[in-house]
Amino acid sequence: GIPVIYLITPTHSRSEQKADLVRLSHTLLHVPNIHWVIVEDTAVKTRLVTNFLRTCGLNYTHLNVATPPEVKMKSTDPNWLKPRGVLQRNAGLEWIRSTSKRKKLEPAVVYFADDDNTYSLQIFEEMRWTKKVSVWPVGLVGALRYESPIVVKGQVTGWLTYWRPQRPFAMDMAGFAVNLRLILSHPSAQFSITAPRGYQESSLLSGLGISLIDLEPKAENCTKVLVWHTRTEKTRLKNEEKMRQQFGKGTDLDIEV
Ligand code: UDP
Ligand code: MN
Repeated sequence: GIPVIYLITPTHSRSEQKADLVRLSHTLLHVPNIHWVIVEDTAVKTRLVTNFLRTCGLNYTHLNVATPPEVKMKSTDPNWLKPRGVLQRNAGLEWIRSTSKRKKLEPAVVYFADDDNTYSLQIFEEMRWTKKVSVWPVGLVGALRYESPIVVKGQVTGWLTYWRPQRPFAMDMAGFAVNLRLILSHPSAQFSITAPRGYQESSLLSGLGISLIDLEPKAENCTKVLVWHTRTEKTRLKNEEKMRQQFGKGTDLDIEV
């Protein structure tokens, strides 16, 4: 059969979470042979995500791990930022590794899909037959129209990015997928909570023993944008409190949004 796509999605609680998850799930419903590993950034699984997944119509695994509120940093490092989704993606990898031990190894690919991006259906078919690591452009990222691997004669030679193009793998999380066998044969490869900003992708791929020559350019030799790093606008909820103050009543907090 066709390889399974394991899609690891970190997700955190916010006003727009359910709307983002509904939109993403409706994309995934069009993708055959997909298993959604959704990892909440919470100490306890939420009712919202639990109920949403039960009726979403997808094959899924629901996990959770909370990002510690304060992660220690060197006081000399001004560029350190709170990592987003790092422990969650690692928990997804760990689940895939331990599940794969217990069953016959089927061909599969692993992709890290943030909950607010936009995915064309074509990108899933591009990644499905990944031998080691496949790569492609990502739209609307890095303060550019798109970022992309630079491809010369069918091989990746570098990175079209403004920000730190000297990174070993200067691409966004949405820009690559990894064959499951490679992940299983490098059991300690993972994302790093202490990696500098922009180096998450490099920390995983370096741990997989990958160099540029191994990368498989997809999306017509990286000439098509099939995934976009869209970001959902933060919704202003300033009238919630004003309404309660002025009218003595507000929206029904039992109604899930
Ligand atoms: N995320 C998370 N915990 C956080 C912040 C973000 O799990 O504290 C998730 C988020 O739901 C998304 C991914 O990590 O799936 C990337 O976060 P975000 O979209 O905010 O990052 P950006 O768009 O800025 O790269
Ligand atoms: Mn995002």
